[in-house]
Parts: sequence; C-alpha cells; structure tokens
Amino acid sequence: MNGAEKASRPVFAIDLGGSKIAVAIISPEYKILAREYHPTLADEGAAPVIDRITAAVKQITAATGTALPQTGGIGIAAAGAIDHKSGLVTLSPNLPGWRDVPLRALLQERLGSPTWLINDANAAALGEHRLGAGRGVNDLIYLTVGTGIGGAIITNGRLYTGACGSAGEIGHMTIDINGPRCACGNTGCLETLASGRAIAREAIRRLGAGESSSLTGLVNGKTADITAREVAVAAEQGDLLAVSVIDNAAFYLGVGLVNLVNIFNPEMIIIGGGVASLGERLLNPARRLVKERAFPVSSAAVSIVATELGRDAGLLGAARFAFEQAEAREEI
Ligand SMILES: [Zn+2]
Repeated sequence: MNGAEKASRPVFAIDLGGSKIAVAIISPEYKILAREYHPTLADEGAAPVIDRITAAVKQITAATGTALPQTGGIGIAAAGAIDHKSGLVTLSPNLPGWRDVPLRALLQERLGSPTWLINDANAAALGEHRLGAGRGVNDLIYLTVGTGIGGAIITNGRLYTGACGSAGEIGHMTIDINGPRCACGNTGCLETLASGRAIAREAIRRLGAGESSSLTGLVNGKTADITAREVAVAAEQGDLLAVSVIDNAAFYLGVGLVNLVNIFNPEMIIIGGGVASLGERLLNPARRLVKERAFPVSSAAVSIVATELGRDAGLLGAARFAFEQAEAREEI
C-alpha cells in the first residue's frame, strides 16, 4: 500500500516560482480543497519571500478553518537547485539572493508542521507521472516551457536527480554554440531559443528590423511590451511574423527533443508550462523533427504529449511528494 492510499489527512502544497507563490490544501485523493496565489516579489530577497510563504499558509489556514495540526504536513516545490537531504535551496536563477537557504527547516520551525522540499520541475514531473499524462509510464521526460525552460527525468518510475540533485536542466542543453547568451553564462541554450522569453525577444527583434506584423497593434505600438502571449494571439489570427517566430521556437524545441530521445529513449515526453498552451502549433513541428532526426527505433517508441495537470502540476506533485515522504518516514 502506498502513501496516497494510507494517508487520511490533507497536506499543504506550495509552488514557489520566480513571479508567484501558489498555496493549496490538497486531500489524499488529490482534490484541491483551496488554492491561493500571491506575488513572490523575488527581487526583495530570501527573507521577505519566506515571510510571505509563511503568511500565505496562515492565511489559507484561517480562510478554510484548517488548523495546521490537522494536516499531514507541507510539500513545497521551489524554482531552483535543491539539496533534498538537507532541505536547502542551494541556488536559484529565478530567486535572486538565494544561496544555501534552509527553506525546509525554516518553514518547519515557523509553521510547526513536517515539511518536504522538492525542485519545481521535479514536482511537476512527479505529478504528471503519478496522477496525469504519465500514469503507468516507466520512463518519461517532463519539460516546462514557460518564461524559461525547466525539466525532469523519470527512469524506471523514479526521479533521476543526479550526483548532487541538479539533473534535468533541460533548458540549459546547448543547441547552438554560437547562439544567444543565456542567464546561466553559456550561449545557445535551449532556453534562449525556445522559451517564452525567446519567442518575445525574437518577435521584438524582427519588428525592430523593419518587418510588419499585427503585433504592433496588439500592444498599441509599445513593441517592448510584447510577450509570448501576444505572439500566440497574433499567430492564432494568422499573422505571418508571429507564425514564423513560433515555428522557429518549435524547431529548436524539436532539436532539444531529438537529443533527449536519442540519449534516454523515453516512452513519453510531456510538455507543460505557459508556452505549452500553444498546443499543436508548438508540438506538431517538434514531433515532426523528432521523426526526421532521432534514431528511428527511439522515435517510434516515444509519444510527445501536452501536460494533463496544467498549471496545477507543481502543486499536485508537491502534495504527492509530501504524501510519499511521510509514508516513507513512517516505514523507517
Ligand atoms: Zn543556459
């Protein structure tokens, strides 16, 4: 019997991202009983963000009348490199100033409830594997394509975390050694070519070079305000520049997937994150490239699909992680 079946109390799930903090109370049947969003305001540094997480948990506790002792603990997914064993956020490009922050111990002390910490992409992958598109699949890769690109690898049903917990940085796979400079210090990472930020940057660059597009009207002439969302809207309306920018991003995503398919021979690749809402417009060209370029045996074995859990993948995965960890602890 696994943790999900044995647990009887709900858990708090927290998804700490660079722009927002999601907090939820989730039942052992994975029903989201309550859910709230707060701004992260990451630029203020670690201490105020941790204060906001604590306040957010207390707020949802008060709003729902769920006392902390009535829950089975807290699962928190954080955007950054995580040391599982010590509960540290060792480094996070999305959370400026976070270096070796003992997030698990701090929350445990402040909220008086057992707490478990996991990387956000790993949490989303765990959610999809246990509860979403990847149920029953042994070997899968999860990519979250949003402002940046994150990833996680599940082999033989378990998260592959690597020698020091930082495996799965799929967004920082080199695709073009002469490509744009990445925040990680490298050049031509997948994230610089296929993320939401890359889509917006490329659209703005091409408009600046004199190409015309309905995008200009969509942002009332303020082309610097263009995000991937506007490019998606323009593409939907048939704007040629927007369609071409998204085709390029899908091509580079496909190049990344070819590498992953050849290296890991996964049964499934799940694409989540905000840019995944482009759906088939993003997935079809990427699938085509995998078919053209990956080893035929591996390419025939893989399905490339959209997330089933959507924006709740991280929260549900954090909850699942908490249930599984609580169960493992009881068994020791
Ligand atoms: Zn990079």
